[in-house]
Amino acid sequence: MFMHAYTYDDILLLPNKSLHSRKDPKLETKLSRNIHIDIPITSANMDTITGFELAKTMSKMGGVGFLHRNMEIGENVKIVKRCLNEWESYWCPVVPTVGVSSLQEMERAESIIQLGGPVICIDIANAYSDRVVNMINFIRSKNAYIDIVVGNVATASAAVFLAKHGVDAIKVGIGPGSVCTTRRMTGFGVPQLTAVRMVKMGLMDSKYSSIPVIADGGIKSSGDIVKALWAGASSIMTGKLFAGCKEANDPTSYRGMASSNAREVLKTDSGDSVAEEGIAIEVEDAGSAEDVITELCNGIRSGMSYAGCNFISELTLSKEVGAVVQTQNGIIESGTRK
Ligand code: 5GP
Repeated sequence: MFMHAYTYDDILLLPNKSLHSRKDPKLETKLSRNIHIDIPITSANMDTITGFELAKTMSKMGGVGFLHRNMEIGENVKIVKRCLNEWESYWCPVVPTVGVSSLQEMERAESIIQLGGPVICIDIANAYSDRVVNMINFIRSKNAYIDIVVGNVATASAAVFLAKHGVDAIKVGIGPGSVCTTRRMTGFGVPQLTAVRMVKMGLMDSKYSSIPVIADGGIKSSGDIVKALWAGASSIMTGKLFAGCKEANDPTSYRGMASSNAREVLKTDSGDSVAEEGIAIEVEDAGSAEDVITELCNGIRSGMSYAGCNFISELTLSKEVGAVVQTQNGIIESGTRK
């Protein structure tokens, strides 16, 4: 009656003929249609995660930070400007984020576009929406060439809808986030591995194969990143893995942007009738984001070596690399034991 849908822990990839060395694989990838990054890792546009410091580290390490937007437009512009000025040599110093549907967000978008950066992200819980189209059109009316990343979606039809409206990258993930309660609150969502695969396949089938997919949320390890890339993503977004890092915007806590805590602190409360779809947690010191990224990249390279792939583009939707669904016992065996 229903199709099966899987998430990262449900599957394992089948080892292929190995590469000569685990150091061989190259991690460069596409963030969006016209923008390349050196590693397939981006940091989430959450107020406890990506501010100036983490954006700087992400850029230095070859990935990119998606800057949160829970601040005055003036402050937002200041940070984006600083990013663009300080790392001129980098392709993509930062991805600023805007919301939809309000004059304030249009003003934010316009002020950011004027700074001349290469890319902007429109972020909304369910991007399968005419309000997103209005924002896409508004941004395009101000700058025909800027790359527009839009999220989040979890189905092929939503992705094709956005592709038809000219987006340059699609962020996938409805409910997989570690501090997210959307699935419990609303009953909606798609297990993340299947969501990524359905979106990428939907884009390919509709001749939009040049639009990269960003797998957002639910990443616990480098193994999950390798699975996401195999399933169809060109890069991943994580908040959780940077929570508690010294470069995080708040190294002591991590909270869902739709949690009551975020609404109280950030004064983004839109009324009692809006469901809470996230939680807030305290976090322990997680060291430096640089070390986290280095470790993740080592794991991804090793995974690509098992896949026999020199490039991420070879791994994405690879026909050479198969997968199996794990049983509960398999999942236990995959963990470590005494
Ligand atoms: P994580 O790395 O914690 O697994 O996932 C991070 C992602 O969770 C973010 O990039 C964003 O897409 C999503 N997210 C952040 N805050 C919330 C929230 O309050 N509710 C929901 N549903 N998702 C959230």
